[in-house]
Amino acid sequence: MSHKNLGLYIHLPYCSHHCVYCDFNVYSLKQKKELDQYLGVLLREVDFYGEQFRNRTIDTIYFGGGTPSLFSADQLGRVLSAITSKFQIARSPEMTIEVNPASALFSKLNDFRSLGINRVSLGAQTFHPIHLKMLERKHSVNQILRSFESARKANFEVINIDLIFGIPTQSVKDLKEDLHQLFILSPEHISTYHLTVDRFNRLHSQLPSDELAAKMYTFIIKTMAEGGYEHYEVSAFAKSGYFCRHHLKYWELQDYLGIGAGAFSYFRDREHPWGVAFKNADSWEVYSSRVTKEGHAKEEVETVTFEKAKTDYLITHLRMLKGVSCLDYEQRFGENIMISYGYKINSLIESGLLDSSGGVLKLTNCGLLYLNQVLRNLI
Ligand code: SF4
Repeated sequence: MSHKNLGLYIHLPYCSHHCVYCDFNVYSLKQKKELDQYLGVLLREVDFYGEQFRNRTIDTIYFGGGTPSLFSADQLGRVLSAITSKFQIARSPEMTIEVNPASALFSKLNDFRSLGINRVSLGAQTFHPIHLKMLERKHSVNQILRSFESARKANFEVINIDLIFGIPTQSVKDLKEDLHQLFILSPEHISTYHLTVDRFNRLHSQLPSDELAAKMYTFIIKTMAEGGYEHYEVSAFAKSGYFCRHHLKYWELQDYLGIGAGAFSYFRDREHPWGVAFKNADSWEVYSSRVTKEGHAKEEVETVTFEKAKTDYLITHLRMLKGVSCLDYEQRFGENIMISYGYKINSLIESGLLDSSGGVLKLTNCGLLYLNQVLRNLI
């Protein structure tokens, strides 16, 4: 089995402020020198994996966070030089950076573009000042508009905008205005996330009802289609030809390597035909001391079994609107999907949450709204 291509995720966890709803692995930046210290350790991890993966070809690189745009182009240039000297790189890799409108000045974006980064993901979230405040975002609507314009001027091939819906006090009319503003900007890609927080979070009691959130999501799906955006994954919409190649690796269960504190990896090799999955240590103390001593900071290493690989395949592929090809499943696992999951699938079809026509298993419109219930039933 050959899995030559590899997606590379680089986690840059620093933020100038920890937003109230965020559950990513994030460190609050206290002093600028922390960024260089972090990169010093991260570069050692790049060295370590460069050795292990010298036969693989990196075809997507994704700088995620945290707030990668807190780093300078000079700092990220050092990371990219290390990557290109240690790994083989495909001829035209997709290279994405997540940026926060508060730290996305034209000069910085232009420098990122000069490094070969060709895709920018802008964390706008909403165009209503009151909702930005509620989410504790530290940027204004004007900064979103300016950073978008700067990204255009810097000639990124693709701009993604992240949008959040289901914010306390948000109405469908507010959401309609957010989408209207998005369409004026006309990015190539839009990601929409339903705001979820745990019950200990201070926003929890103010979240809109499930009915209202479902109404908003339905409205988004309809409006995006009218605006010319293809809905290709539960939370992702794109103009034709602009699907995110890096995220497709997660949703199609392809191989990816995560470098940095708290990053996830999944790949298949000779010893792990169904894959191995692991996560790096979250905390700076553990991450830096492990990488310094051992070259890596793997935790929670799981050798994926045949049974687990089948479930993972099903739950990742179902997130995509094209659904699960029964033929592809059979070619990958050597058994009919109805033999593996017949009873569970049939019960979801009867509940109106799944559809299985033309040899493809897909979420119905109702299934899209109740994805978690579908996944719970399949696991
Ligand atoms: S800026 Fe993004 S990563 Fe940082 S705390 Fe806010 S939501 Fe989380």
